[in-house]
Amino acid sequence: MGGAALYQLAKRGTRVLGIDRFAPPHEQGSSHGDTRITRLAIGEGAHYTPLVKRSHEIWREIEGETGADLLTQCGELIISSDDRKSSVHVEGFFQNTINAARDHGIAHERLDASQIRSRFPQFNVQDTEHGYFEPEAGFVRPEACIGAQLSLAEKRGAEIRRGETVFVFGTTPHGVTVKTDKGFYQADRLVVAAGAWLPKLLGGPFEKLLKIHRQVLHWFETDGEPSRFAPQNFPVFIWELPDAHQGIYGFPVVDGGLKVATEQYGDTTSPDTVSRDVDPREIAQMYENFVRSYLKNVSPRSVKAKACLYTVTPDAGFILDRLPQSERIIVASCCSGHGFKHSAAIGEILADMAQGRPMPLDISPFRLARFSA
Ligand SMILES: Cc1cc2nc3c(=O)[nH]c(=O)nc-3n(C[C@H](O)[C@H](O)[C@H](O)COP(=O)(O)OP(=O)(O)OC[C@H]3O[C@@H](n4cnc5c(N)ncnc54)[C@H](O)[C@@H]3O)c2cc1C
Repeated sequence: MGGAALYQLAKRGTRVLGIDRFAPPHEQGSSHGDTRITRLAIGEGAHYTPLVKRSHEIWREIEGETGADLLTQCGELIISSDDRKSSVHVEGFFQNTINAARDHGIAHERLDASQIRSRFPQFNVQDTEHGYFEPEAGFVRPEACIGAQLSLAEKRGAEIRRGETVFVFGTTPHGVTVKTDKGFYQADRLVVAAGAWLPKLLGGPFEKLLKIHRQVLHWFETDGEPSRFAPQNFPVFIWELPDAHQGIYGFPVVDGGLKVATEQYGDTTSPDTVSRDVDPREIAQMYENFVRSYLKNVSPRSVKAKACLYTVTPDAGFILDRLPQSERIIVASCCSGHGFKHSAAIGEILADMAQGRPMPLDISPFRLARFSA
């Protein structure tokens, strides 16, 4: 989110400084692991669709300028059933997705179990399950998106301080101040997009509002004909499982291994204490509980596994607002497990907020005040 804002501000010719405690793209926060699902009809709420649509335009612009491979529209299959035991992010995710597709005129197909089996035999669906297929959905490559935006920002004059940690910030009558482990800065406006570090950095209500959950991404080898899981033949998928309390989601094979994950909201953690190692037992359990019965021709042999952090709000929505104590400080917590697809457009919104420009998209659903009502 911070890198996208930096890019948009630099593109407008604004003098802008980005500060990061690491050197993005990195594997300590929420934006690593090769791929992120992108979809136009958003089950978390139809108000997200303009964000992802605009983001797709921006990814394509950046691809045109840099030659980077950022967005692959291989299609998306959501599988659900009326008697499912799990739901993804919000109640009614599947029906919300269909409603959003209808309201925004997004191309899609409804599939029954036999149609899913004949189109995508890799999924072991039950007769009671049904699907939603969206051909323009697919995946973005987060590391490449971040890398491209940062290098374009630098090319246009942005300054980036990598390996520098912000300790504290404040306001003066005419601007903001930022103190880091290496220096002191003054500026007109500040955008705070610190991901999982946000609750500690902002303190106060944010520590109560935002919960950090460790998630694990798994890549497994596939058996048989490899092209079966290539993006031309296999969509990204989200599956509200009929018989487990967690859903799963996954991707075609891109850089080795089929990536699949579930979500957990039971245990909380912090970015300073979380274990970023993945225990072999976690991998075995993932395969046994969430892969073996659902995906055909996926082997238990692990290619790799990585831990990643969700920063989650009580309603699984985003926070995109000015701090109540100063309109010069803008805060972005756009995760809850589904933020990356929107990040390019969020960069534009953050730039508009920082420059006091009118905003082309409605961000009222992302206001902080909704939590105090
Ligand atoms: C496992 C997993 C799967 C996901 N799947 C999807 C998906 O399929 N589709 C989708 O759209 N979204 C998905 N998401 C969500 C998406 O990845 C996040 O919404 C997004 O990456 C969050 O970006 P961010 O900029 O808020 O956080 P980050 O990328 O973590 O950035 C925060 C940055 O702040 C820096 N920082 C923190 N504190 C300080 C400080 N004090 N001083 C200086 N720098 C600091 C950090 O170093 C870091 O670089 C997923 C997330 C995870 C973890």
